[in-house]
Amino acid sequence: MAQRYVYGFGPWGADGDASMKNALGGKGANLAEMCRLGLPVPAGFTINTDCCTAYFQEGKKFPQSLRDEVAEALRKTEAAMGMKYGDAENPLLVSCRSGARKSMPGMMETVLNVGLCPATIPGLVKKSASERFVYDAYRRLIMMYSDVVMEKAEDIEPAEGKGVRLQLEHLMATLKKAKGYQSDTDMTAEDLKKLCNQFKAKVKQVLGRPFPDDPQEQLWGAIGAVFKSWQGKRAVSYRRIEGIPEEWGTACNVQSMVFGNLGDTSATGVAFTRNPATGENKFYGEWLVNAQGEDVVAGIRTPNPLNEATKNEQNRHLDSLESKMPELYKQLDGIRTKLETHYKDMQDIEFTIQEGKLYMLQCRNGKRTGTAALNMAMDMLGEGLIDEVTAVTRVEPAQLDELLHPIIDPAAEKTVEPILSGLPAGPGGACGKIVLTSADAVEAAARGQHVILVREETNPEDVEGMRAAAGILTARGGMTSHAALVARGWGKCCIVGAGGLAIDLKNQTVSAGGTALAAGDLITLNGSKGRVYQGALAMMDATENPRFQEFMKLVDRQRKLGVRTNADTPDDARVARAFGAEGIGLFRTEHMFYGKGADEPLFILRKMIMVLGKKPKPAKTKQAREAAEKKVLAERKAVVDELFPFVKHDIKATLEAMEGLPVTIRLLDPPLHEFVPQDKGAQLQLAKALNMRLADVKKRGEELHETNPMMGHRGVRLGVTYPEVTEMQVRAIFESAAELIQAGKDARPEIMVPVTCDVKELDVTRVIVDRVHEEVKTQTGVDVKYLYGTMIEIPRAALLADRMAKSAQFFSFGTNDLTQMSFGFSRDDIGGFLPDYLKGGLLEADPFQTIDQTGVGQLIRMSVERGRKTRGDLKIGICGEQGGDPASVEFCFQAGLNYVSCSPYRVPIARLAAAHATIKARR
Ligand code: ADP
Ligand code: MG
Ligand code: MG
Repeated sequence: MAQRYVYGFGPWGADGDASMKNALGGKGANLAEMCRLGLPVPAGFTINTDCCTAYFQEGKKFPQSLRDEVAEALRKTEAAMGMKYGDAENPLLVSCRSGARKSMPGMMETVLNVGLCPATIPGLVKKSASERFVYDAYRRLIMMYSDVVMEKAEDIEPAEGKGVRLQLEHLMATLKKAKGYQSDTDMTAEDLKKLCNQFKAKVKQVLGRPFPDDPQEQLWGAIGAVFKSWQGKRAVSYRRIEGIPEEWGTACNVQSMVFGNLGDTSATGVAFTRNPATGENKFYGEWLVNAQGEDVVAGIRTPNPLNEATKNEQNRHLDSLESKMPELYKQLDGIRTKLETHYKDMQDIEFTIQEGKLYMLQCRNGKRTGTAALNMAMDMLGEGLIDEVTAVTRVEPAQLDELLHPIIDPAAEKTVEPILSGLPAGPGGACGKIVLTSADAVEAAARGQHVILVREETNPEDVEGMRAAAGILTARGGMTSHAALVARGWGKCCIVGAGGLAIDLKNQTVSAGGTALAAGDLITLNGSKGRVYQGALAMMDATENPRFQEFMKLVDRQRKLGVRTNADTPDDARVARAFGAEGIGLFRTEHMFYGKGADEPLFILRKMIMVLGKKPKPAKTKQAREAAEKKVLAERKAVVDELFPFVKHDIKATLEAMEGLPVTIRLLDPPLHEFVPQDKGAQLQLAKALNMRLADVKKRGEELHETNPMMGHRGVRLGVTYPEVTEMQVRAIFESAAELIQAGKDARPEIMVPVTCDVKELDVTRVIVDRVHEEVKTQTGVDVKYLYGTMIEIPRAALLADRMAKSAQFFSFGTNDLTQMSFGFSRDDIGGFLPDYLKGGLLEADPFQTIDQTGVGQLIRMSVERGRKTRGDLKIGICGEQGGDPASVEFCFQAGLNYVSCSPYRVPIARLAAAHATIKARR
């Protein structure tokens, strides 16, 4: 049987349903589902995503069998609507709408009013009794079609300001100006007729081809353009950001047109079954009377509120649908309930009213802020609409980020007046320098600056800039404008429709409610309230939310994988513990040599580095040689002892902060050369303290300057050469633990040896650990319970995991170094070529951010298997940067790890990702 490409839907039901998103795209699958639910949907058909793939495979040609299938489906659509496509008397018009598996708002194309041409115009004029309406529809078709089908889909890249759509808009503006019109609706039928002729001439002049006035040509042109929009610039960059595979393709929905612009009993709108910003269980939406669908989304006019609950400062004076068309509102509200009960999730819907009759044009699971996701999950659980497991899956791990993210410090906010207000489209606070173009935002963000992207209107071509900016502010558009949708999807702070905002791109200045600002000036946004402030306000974290705590309890009930934290200070440890960390997976002792309060220990460390470099003086007799060696050793021991109290202090405080939970302490792994002072003053000071010559201090620095410090004399290697350094740390660990236990506390140290590549290194170190353990036991009477283990961060260690496990009681994958050494990519300068690898598709993602499952992942899986073969109860975790990345967390769960460890602020994200992984594995 030939492959089937076309699936119909209409009042009779549908060939497809909601489960067929992969084939029909989200839009097509839900249109079918709504038909099955008996909702009023204009009839039509969906050409599936396979057809899109086939189209590209065939070099942008439609498969042979498609023509017949489309003709058949069109006949069925015509029958359902009682109209005929291309007919002179009773013409049917259609829209050709893109729709991928996953919604990509505004990223692909849709063409409306397809089928309108000189042959069908008279028939439609007669039927609608409105010449004005018909020519308005025709000029929209010419604009959209020439832009989408004739220009974009043909990969024509016009010079700035020379795009065909802009040129047509310019013609229209000229006409309006000449006639003194304010609004599009002022244009008469005669004006529009004239305009359509001008448009056609212009299209021919700009694009060198006439606008096609044949309905069949229009239809196939539009279908092809929808497919091609899958490879459009915007869609490609959105896919890259969202990680949507190119192979998916888009479906094309061909649907009978209904008209919201047939006068005052017609309207169009967009709504959410609950508030997408707060999660509140209230119907929420916007609508416009006498308008076509794209008008609401495009932010051309300020839309009216759907109902009382949707009113805000900007739209309070406008009529609601609830008050203006109460019967229709009631019907729509009924559909809202029906959809929520059916889909058991918040729906984002599009509707159109044609002469008092309601039509549903789209529904999909609505994008929402992290706050809304959390509130809706907890509400729906309370309402009995969903169960606990579903509630947990309703919040994406990355969305938690936003809940844990900064808001403007309310105390600081009270002391200032906003300079401007707009609609609260994306939550939280953001502070940054004003930039006026997407390109500037990308460029500034690459330099590590926080910027606020300030734009006239919400333009889908801005995605990259929106992504790069800390916050987004626009002058126009409503809560359902596509920029608001995109920002909300990302949980980004965003304010839209700030009417008091005027932008002068040329001079790079902005007037914000009368305050004169320029690009580069600092502003602060409160995206939850829609307020803009001049300058930088203090920010704070919003974590003490009881709802959040409740939700995390549900999360932990689903989770199997442990979550620890990487913490280097007692303060970090406390924060992480409050976020639910179940221990420390990586405590790096070197931290005490950086930053605040580091002066003294750092100086001693420097001394130690110098002393470690000293060699015994050459001697003639054996006796003299032994004496010289003894002297060097004594000197080493003295300086190591000097460092001891600092190391012990930090370890003890951290063990105490994590009382009752395991703390993995990694033995010192410093790149020594980084600690040797470079400036002369510090070098002199060091020379003086050690009674050394300045030249010798410098020489030691040069000695340590390794060509590849990452592979240098560090980690366990240092302890092999200088066992006293290991001994000092191990003593600090056991003494701290013993003292805490003596004081009635519970300390659970785990000693981790870094940079190992062979079990012999572990054996050698183990001798010291055992000895010191005994000594401390004798000295304090406390037998400290502990674990001894190793990092697996060198591929050889991974390969020899079975042997490593003979000595190690636990493994922790140091995936930063493991990735570095597996790829041969340096962590420190991958930035130079990574973008090219990503752009060229040589890498799907930065392997330092998300585990490379195909390569490095094999090493991990193999070590787990081999290690556990040797030692059944081998504890295994990961302590690399990737431990907080949801995809990596899922991988760690599948690979059988016991825990992941990540930075304190990512702990809740990892907990949720771990719960999702368990749920997914069960399904
Ligand atoms: P997007 O995916 O960008 O939302 P859509 O395919 O939903 O694009 O179409 C854009 C706008 O056109 C929407 O507002 C939609 O409601 C409107 N529209 C699409 N098809 C029809 C139709 N058959 N009749 C009336 N309006 C339509
Ligand atoms: Mg839509
Ligand atoms: Mg390392």
